[in-house]
Amino acid sequence: MRQKKEKINVITLGCSKNIVDSEVLMRQLRHNKWELTSEAEYADIAIISTCGFIEAAKRESIDTILQAVELKKEGRLKKVVVMGCLSERYASELKKEIPEVDVYIGANKMDQVVLRLGGDLKYALLGERMLTTPKHYAYLKISEGCDRPCSFCAIPLMRGKHVSKPVEQILHEAQQLAEMGVKELIVIAQDSTYYGLDLYGKRVLSTLLNRLGGLEGIEWIRLMYAFPTGFPFDVLDEFNRNPKICRYLDIPVQHVSDPVLTSMRRGITSGQLRQLIKDIRAKVPGIRLRTTLIVGYPEEGEKEFEELLEFVQEIEFDRIGVFTYSQEDGTTAYPLGDPIPQEIKEQRRAAIMQAQQEISLRKNRELIGKTLKVLLDQKENGAAVGRTQWDAPEVDNEVTIHDGHNVHIGHFCDVTVVDAEEYDLFAVPSLGTRQ
Ligand code: SF4
Repeated sequence: MRQKKEKINVITLGCSKNIVDSEVLMRQLRHNKWELTSEAEYADIAIISTCGFIEAAKRESIDTILQAVELKKEGRLKKVVVMGCLSERYASELKKEIPEVDVYIGANKMDQVVLRLGGDLKYALLGERMLTTPKHYAYLKISEGCDRPCSFCAIPLMRGKHVSKPVEQILHEAQQLAEMGVKELIVIAQDSTYYGLDLYGKRVLSTLLNRLGGLEGIEWIRLMYAFPTGFPFDVLDEFNRNPKICRYLDIPVQHVSDPVLTSMRRGITSGQLRQLIKDIRAKVPGIRLRTTLIVGYPEEGEKEFEELLEFVQEIEFDRIGVFTYSQEDGTTAYPLGDPIPQEIKEQRRAAIMQAQQEISLRKNRELIGKTLKVLLDQKENGAAVGRTQWDAPEVDNEVTIHDGHNVHIGHFCDVTVVDAEEYDLFAVPSLGTRQ
């Protein structure tokens, strides 16, 4: 095998699925003796894993490509490779607009990147990853693509139809992660609740969660990207049976007003949504719900927005992310135009986040004096920062532990909450802290 000394910088933009793709790619690059560097200026080759989801993400991807092309023009980079969703969606436009890029490769085609760089693909390594997250947690992608018809969403255009990974393949990957010291598995997909329908003719997410629960070393299993319509209730039985499953569920609902839900092709009504949330909370007491909402959708008038705001105040989700509508070519909503000014969209997002801040602050204050199990992610200025089972990395609340010198990154410890803010808890190690 030809010795390769070039240094490669892999830049990952976008979502956790892209992170997994980059980690799989980096494992193959490492196998081919390429050196990996996290600094673009020290690299010979830059590989940019792009996102093409919404306007803001597309802009960030293009800016990153242009920065790399600039380094190449200055002779500081030999090659620029662009992969992922943006090039899957706009390859021909990108080739015309930014011809300085050496190779454009689509989404989920990490093998082609290795081959186009002159490397060998080691099939035995497929599924093996070089973690870019802190070593104690990892994303576990259980499927690719999506079969849902959501009118605003371009993801199926980039990631294709829903393809579940076989259970044994996922277990093999998860086993390797556990052997690498991973304690928290974050289960991701475009639509995790659809898992198995294409492969086994039925939804088998609860079976998969059960099998993951049997892996030694794994202590937390977190379920993200559940889809409300046709929600498989047997998954909640597994929540109650399996102590490793975090009492946490990420379930994007996007909106609640019936005319908007219909136009968004979400396949569910406001009444059914409310009932679903009620049933989930009844079936798994103490479960924390995270959701995602879109404001400024073309069919969202003042009345529909007020309905959404009231829904947020009524349901009191534990964690919320709000996106402003982005008109995306190729989606079924595209012909509706983008009538709502960005300023109004921002005002609506701010109003929802204001309401959520009040809800989150009250809920966090109720935890003062409570003892919680926390997984420690990092240390800064003598304090440790971690998360409870109710918090996913990067998007949810954090717990800052003062006097954290005796606790260790990647370990669990019991803490007592002494103070709270909207999105943060402050705690001290509990007496007899379990390391
Ligand atoms: S479920 Fe809907 S919003 Fe999510 S990826 Fe699929 S089409 Fe897009």
